[in-house]
Amino acid sequence: MSNIGTVGVVGAGQMGNGIAHVCALAGYDVFLNDVSEDALEQGMKTIEANMSRQVSRSMISPDDMTTALKRIQPGTSLEPFGKVDLAIEAATEKREVKEAIFKSLCDVVPERTYLATNTSSISITRLAATTDRPEKFIGLHFMNPVPLMKLMEVIRGLATDQDTYEMALGFAKALGKTTTNAEDYPAFIVNRVLVPMINEAVYALYEGVGTVESIDTAMKLGANHPMGPLELADFIGLDTCLSIMQVLHDGLADTKYRPCPLLVKYVEAGWLGRKAKRGFYDYRGDAPVPTR
Ligand code: NAD
Repeated sequence: MSNIGTVGVVGAGQMGNGIAHVCALAGYDVFLNDVSEDALEQGMKTIEANMSRQVSRSMISPDDMTTALKRIQPGTSLEPFGKVDLAIEAATEKREVKEAIFKSLCDVVPERTYLATNTSSISITRLAATTDRPEKFIGLHFMNPVPLMKLMEVIRGLATDQDTYEMALGFAKALGKTTTNAEDYPAFIVNRVLVPMINEAVYALYEGVGTVESIDTAMKLGANHPMGPLELADFIGLDTCLSIMQVLHDGLADTKYRPCPLLVKYVEAGWLGRKAKRGFYDYRGDAPVPTR
């Protein structure tokens, strides 16, 4: 298995900062990149707050936290990626954004470097084809919130070689994650099942079958889900949910994946869920208040 010592993470949003967090705690040196200074600052604050919570629950020691935080170097330049053994892209769920990132990465990373994407739905094979090393390219789909969720979906593209796959398994193990293999088809396994359910919940809201509260209560108490689907949509990010539905709709050409117009409307309003402080719930007060 190939040796990974230094990891680069592109995108410091909710997933990118979570990935940096678990990598640093596992002993990797991490470069955390984002185009936005603000996102980097927020990302580092989130990592610190989440690690503090782990310390207060005795999951890690204060020393573990101090050492891990020192291992993370945030920055807006990709130049430090000239030292990374593995670069993980966790930027906005838009194909053009990711393709541009991989093009820039190929200019700076050494030949030995593996490339990975945390995409929720976009074809690994297609993203790999935009790089100079499709055989060293793989999908590592972390779950949100990364420090707490046990699963990592591993998705091989058409060209991904065995060495890269084994690197991914070893890396997941080092992070304490359990892997599951998914074939490279739109949205893989978790989101192929989960996001159409969320979209259906938005249709139920759109058609007046229930209110935000009644739909979430119904699924929590009636299906034993820990979170209602609309609460979960806010947690994932409504822009990400919409992008995944669009990838499913385009990729599988089946009308059952049509994104709900109400989901589109929320995204158009910029009501993207928790990260924007407003989505199907309004998070600006002490307790979340349904917006419909
Ligand atoms: P987010 O909106 O919280 O963060 C995205 C970040 O990417 C932002 O900080 C943005 O500034 C940055 N970014 C955009 N363009 C960039 C560029 N060219 N270079 C560097 N940074 C750039 O989104 P997120 O929820 O963290 O999602 C990131 C990725 O992870 C997406 O592909 C998403 O599908 C995937 N994902 C999300 C979840 C989830 O529950 N949110 C779960 C698994 C995977």
